Amino acid sequence: MTTHYKGLIDRYRSRLPVKNDTRVITLHEGNTPLIPLENIPSILRKDVKILVKFEGLNPTGSFKDRGMTMAVTQAVSEGSKAIICASTGNTSAAAAAYASRAGIRCFVLIPDGKIAQGKLAQAMIKGSVVIQILGNFDDGMRLVKEVGDSAPVTIVNSINPYRIHGQKTIAFEIIDALGRAPDYHCLPVGNAGNITAHWLGYCEYAGIAAYADSFQTEQGPYNKDKVTTKTPIMCGYQASGSAPFLRGHPIDNPETVATAIRIGNPQSWDQAWTASRDSKGWFDEFTDAEILATQKLLAEKEGIFCEPASAISVAGAMKDIRSGKIPEGSTVVCTLTGHGLKDPDTAIKQSSSPVIRVEANLAQVQKAILDNLK
Ligand SMILES: *Cc1c(COP(=O)(O)O)cnc(C)c1O
Repeated sequence: MTTHYKGLIDRYRSRLPVKNDTRVITLHEGNTPLIPLENIPSILRKDVKILVKFEGLNPTGSFKDRGMTMAVTQAVSEGSKAIICASTGNTSAAAAAYASRAGIRCFVLIPDGKIAQGKLAQAMIKGSVVIQILGNFDDGMRLVKEVGDSAPVTIVNSINPYRIHGQKTIAFEIIDALGRAPDYHCLPVGNAGNITAHWLGYCEYAGIAAYADSFQTEQGPYNKDKVTTKTPIMCGYQASGSAPFLRGHPIDNPETVATAIRIGNPQSWDQAWTASRDSKGWFDEFTDAEILATQKLLAEKEGIFCEPASAISVAGAMKDIRSGKIPEGSTVVCTLTGHGLKDPDTAIKQSSSPVIRVEANLAQVQKAILDNLK
């Protein structure tokens, strides 16, 4: 038996709407590490287990690859020759990669100016047609839906149900790794496809009928083998300037340094509320300063470099553990949705370690070391 990991469709085919003979478009995404935090829990002085699912280690550096392998596999199997998405950056990076892999065209609509450099570079180098619109993500999303009705292109935003099915595999991997569901699951919420997908995955593994019967696969219905009887409480966190779930309605002109969640009109609005209510969870919000401080804390204390939007999951977990809302003895999983290298500008701007310039000689280098050993 071969143990070579071949991506999440291969791994979880019996739980995904993919036929046995379908050509799979994959970059061997998924199978990301679930890393226990070792230093942050002691700062909190609380007896909790916090683990981070580092989705930044997917092939294009975010969890979007999980959804994209499914969406592009399905698009190609239907004969589609082009895909399109609106994106704050990571969806376009993933779409570009899987379109290249499949040999089809890719069009991406990105907001003017507000996209991290790494993400833009990914879409450009892979040969996508990048359309920068003089508007924000929500404008792009509206235009993609309009053009999708009239042009021969497949929409690969998370309104595409195959995206959600791909992304639900994160919950499968977590349960497979822990042997059970965590007590709490903390994650950032932007367009809200990911919280929807997490909840779907947890419910399917728990054999909750309303979810488990939603898809019949070639191998039979999903819920044949119940894996766990428990689902976690879902904690969704938003940036204060882009927090429609806290305000209770969509908002105009969302703003935040965490560009991946700079979204005012989430497409999976109802599904996210279902996840929150049915899991007895909650939404909360954090300022840009809190988000950046947590990004830095993760890098300094744990050696884990995620992008700003991802850090909000740990900011939320820390706040709720401190207050006791998440009680001691809990196992908490945080999704670190994307890699810090996506947005080097933001990281460099808030770095506390200055770059020291010296002459290229031993004395100067020694001095620089001794000065900084204190
Ligand atoms: C897309 C994205 C999010 C938000 O996910 P939604 O499904 O839109 O809620 C959060 N963080 C990163 C890094 C992302 O790329």
